[in-house]
Amino acid sequence: MFNLYNIIRPNVQRMKAYSSARDEFSGTASIWLDANENPYPSDYNRYPDPQQREVKRLLAEIKGISPDNIFLGNGSDEAIDLLFRAFCEPGKDKVLLFSPTYGMYKVCAALNDVGILEAPLTADFQLDVAKALAICEAEKPKMIFICSPNNPTGNLIPQDQILSLAHTFPGLVVVDEAYIDFTPEGSMLPLLTANSKLPTAHSPLPTKNLVILQTFSKAWGLAGIRLGMAFASKEIIAIFNKIKPPYNVNQLTQKVAIQKLQAADELRGKVDEIVSERKKLIQHLSPLEQVIRIFPSDANFLLIQFQNPRHVFERMKEKGIILRDRSQAVPGCLRITVGTPAENESLIQALSQLENRPFTLSPQLQERRARIHRQTHETDILIELNLDRRDQHEFSTGLGFFDHMLEQISKHGNIGLKVQVKGDLHIDEHHTIEDTALALGQAFLEALGSKKGISRYGFLLPMDDALAQVALDFGGRPWIVWEADFHREKIGGMPTEMFYHFFKSFSDTAKCNLNIKAEGQNEHHKIEAIFKAFARAIRMAVAKTGDDSIPSTKGSL
Ligand SMILES: *Cc1c(COP(=O)(O)O)cnc(C)c1O
Repeated sequence: MFNLYNIIRPNVQRMKAYSSARDEFSGTASIWLDANENPYPSDYNRYPDPQQREVKRLLAEIKGISPDNIFLGNGSDEAIDLLFRAFCEPGKDKVLLFSPTYGMYKVCAALNDVGILEAPLTADFQLDVAKALAICEAEKPKMIFICSPNNPTGNLIPQDQILSLAHTFPGLVVVDEAYIDFTPEGSMLPLLTANSKLPTAHSPLPTKNLVILQTFSKAWGLAGIRLGMAFASKEIIAIFNKIKPPYNVNQLTQKVAIQKLQAADELRGKVDEIVSERKKLIQHLSPLEQVIRIFPSDANFLLIQFQNPRHVFERMKEKGIILRDRSQAVPGCLRITVGTPAENESLIQALSQLENRPFTLSPQLQERRARIHRQTHETDILIELNLDRRDQHEFSTGLGFFDHMLEQISKHGNIGLKVQVKGDLHIDEHHTIEDTALALGQAFLEALGSKKGISRYGFLLPMDDALAQVALDFGGRPWIVWEADFHREKIGGMPTEMFYHFFKSFSDTAKCNLNIKAEGQNEHHKIEAIFKAFARAIRMAVAKTGDDSIPSTKGSL
């Protein structure tokens, strides 16, 4: 049976904790003369809260646990180190690890002169519970470390495996959940707080010998502030607090953590994006010949077995892309962190080039494109639009001049565009032009999707004797301002009254604001200038800014 007082080091049990000035008095006062601080105020002349109460209060709410069950440290590495110091007698005690796993457990064990027992993970990186229990029986380790999702293999360890160990093992079971935010349903945290007043099949007893480690270094994006968490019974947390350095979490760290915890709802979006980028990497890297195998991952990295890992590692390094060589831990394997979409694309590109394979962007994930087929009694229109490729342009509307204008949009908009129209030209040009504009607007709306990362606005340009200005906003609402008069009835067989109609229809279905003004003598130049300016405005507006946010304070367009 587990009994905390059987495993705590006797000197730790006996010792008296250091009591800091801020521990002894933490109420409100106007004059603080108790800690030998410099009295002249700056933001940082006072010692920080040694118990990090505000951080714990916010964290407790998010995690659904009491602040008394939380320890905060200088990274979760500090919690790992304190576990060794609290529970393992140097030169005598041992711990059990499941290899391959996170390197710090071994380092801390070695530093504290604690013996290391290793049980290899199975071929699919799961625990061999029976073997582990046999080792525990024979060697009596004080602690077992389980990393889930495991670093470097990436997989979650099933809770029932961990629990079957925890229920029979009389020492501490430390579960390192550094990557759990990428698979939140896998967390063991609820088992720590199980309501002991209502022990039923659905609410089991809290697991007294469980210590759960989490960190702000991974999903939270705060590796730089060094803040780690340990969750455990109040009794275990009290031991952490007894032996920790008094002010182990500095004030700057506490301040940043409070800000981030107050905006915790922003975490999910980023994490979801990393998870979807992970899928993209798997999809693009799996077909490469160099890649033997990509192991399933519940974390923000992939463990990949390569034909020649050293070669891949070196070649990527030459390109400025640094991977982690884990071939010592898992034969042939490199560990690759999921980066930003642009970083991942560079990686995919670099790895594809390694085998002289042209890298083609996945249409779904990378290219903004749309294919619109619009059919009525009057017209049959097929439009293919690709905002990220220029190599397709084809126009056949039956109206030579109109084709020429659409070509301006493709050429000067720097976009791929194919327009095929079979219209009722035997009646007149009206339906062909209007319906093409409607379908084109719809294609833009569809290709722009969420409008994440676009510039949104586009402006104007002058041309020859004519001045055309087109300002455009893909802001989600249609509007048109048109100030361009034409004196001829037709240009190149196209009725000039249809120009306004074209842009009005486009603005209606693309849901964009269009403000078009043109002046000049030559009517042909004037309309061509309008189409070119329109194309330039589109080019500016659909250009990617490099940041992936929606260009609106409303958060949607
Ligand atoms: C990254 C990582 C940590 C984090 O350590 P910190 O000291 O909190 O930055 C802990 N455990 C594992 C398994 C990790 O991979």
